[in-house]
Amino acid sequence: MPAQTWEAAIGRQLAQEIERQYRILPDPAVTGYAKGLAGRVTQSAGLNVPVSLKILQDGEARVFTFPGGFVYITTGLIARTETEAEFAGVLAHEIAHLKLQNGYYSSAGAATSVAPPRVFIGCSRWTLNSQIPLTSLAELRSREQEADTAAIQFLRAAGYDPLGMIEFYNKLRYDEPQLAQTWSSDNLMMLHSYVEESVPPDPEFIVNTAAFDAIRKRFLPEPKRVPSPANRPTLRKVSSPVTLH
Ligand SMILES: [Zn+2]
Repeated sequence: MPAQTWEAAIGRQLAQEIERQYRILPDPAVTGYAKGLAGRVTQSAGLNVPVSLKILQDGEARVFTFPGGFVYITTGLIARTETEAEFAGVLAHEIAHLKLQNGYYSSAGAATSVAPPRVFIGCSRWTLNSQIPLTSLAELRSREQEADTAAIQFLRAAGYDPLGMIEFYNKLRYDEPQLAQTWSSDNLMMLHSYVEESVPPDPEFIVNTAAFDAIRKRFLPEPKRVPSPANRPTLRKVSSPVTLH
């Protein structure tokens, strides 16, 4: 069986597992918006596999990408990105894995003679440190860097400011250090220089849109209401004014 068919079969299996673990968001407006954006980036990437994008209802910011074009994004991720350029950046990075067929590999099947020794199973950026074998860390970092470099070009072609992607990953690195091992601050600085050298600034680049803000607002945590002094309940009723005679 050709390696790509193996990968697609494994991708389908992993996608089914995700759909068992998570609830798919039943909101066509959000899904439609995200699919439109993914379509734009996919087209710029010249990806010839159709992307099946689904939104998972989960407060944690997570992304899962599997061979065969399966991409899952949590509502927590939508809330965590602050602009459409950041959100498009995350999608472009995942689409780059699909295009390059690189990223996190599984050695599943290595023992059999028919399976390829390694099968691409997605992005390691969202894999917890504890699940990453340390020996492959340097290799994973270089794969992630390759995906980022490709994503920068896809974003540029799709009309998005590629710095949004780097800004988002930089924030995430500090906010969620348990996810941060597969990319270093050096990686991000190199990417920043790469953008400065290879992408001329363009005032037409999309940074944010009202459509993104409206979608994101649905998933932001409720702000904590701190009662203002005037609204605080009083312990005693105000006594009726005393009439002096
Ligand atoms: Zn990745």
